[in-house]
Amino acid sequence: MTAALRARIDRRCAAGPFVIAIDGPAASGKGTIARRIAAALNLDHLDTGALYRAVGAAVLEAGGDPADEETAVAAARAIDAARLDPATLRTDAIGEAASKVAAIPAVRAALLAYQKSFAAAPPGGRGAVIDGRDIATVIAPEAPVKIFVTADPAIRAHRRYLELKDSRLGLTEAAVLADLEARDRRDSGRSVAPLRQAADARLLDTSRLDIDAAVAAALAIVEAVLD
Ligand code: C5P
Repeated sequence: MTAALRARIDRRCAAGPFVIAIDGPAASGKGTIARRIAAALNLDHLDTGALYRAVGAAVLEAGGDPADEETAVAAARAIDAARLDPATLRTDAIGEAASKVAAIPAVRAALLAYQKSFAAAPPGGRGAVIDGRDIATVIAPEAPVKIFVTADPAIRAHRRYLELKDSRLGLTEAAVLADLEARDRRDSGRSVAPLRQAADARLLDTSRLDIDAAVAAALAIVEAVLD
């Protein structure tokens, strides 16, 4: 990354919060891309999936049903969004529960203000990279940079399988693909804030890119949009 890009980002941040919105399906690489470009550009990072995961995890811990509106909404109102540890929320069971609570409009409403205010006033005072499913469409539609990260489902399933296989004996790639496709269907098919590429978002297909190349491609998009 060039010093010139950093200098331009610094100027943009001085003029007001600079937001990069990153959306995409599970295992597309969007979370790692968001974390790495935030570090490279000295911006805050908000992983909004962790909010829905925290709600899903709280419901599971209490022995509740993630699809039950009353339980899920109570959990969403109770989480401390500023103090989550995304690393503890990365299991498949929690991801599945997250996508169920995320389909409930009142759960999304309970998590909206925190995300909107993070975008409007990032804690570091410069700007933020925010990743999720509805960042460019709902949370920060005015963000100057919007990127939709995707990859072929079979490739996403292969990546997820490699991550999980050592901790889950007997896991097959076909089972991982079926889970991912079910989650994609739920995330894209829900009535409120479905997963969609915003009309003005740039598409980044990571199917044939390793993570370093994907991060470089995302930074190239940031640079191109600022031109
Ligand atoms: O990105 P991650 O896999 O951590 O997200 C978990 C789930 O949370 C997603 O499958 C999706 O249902 C939900 N989610 C969402 N909107 C966001 C971020 C995540 O609906 N902005």
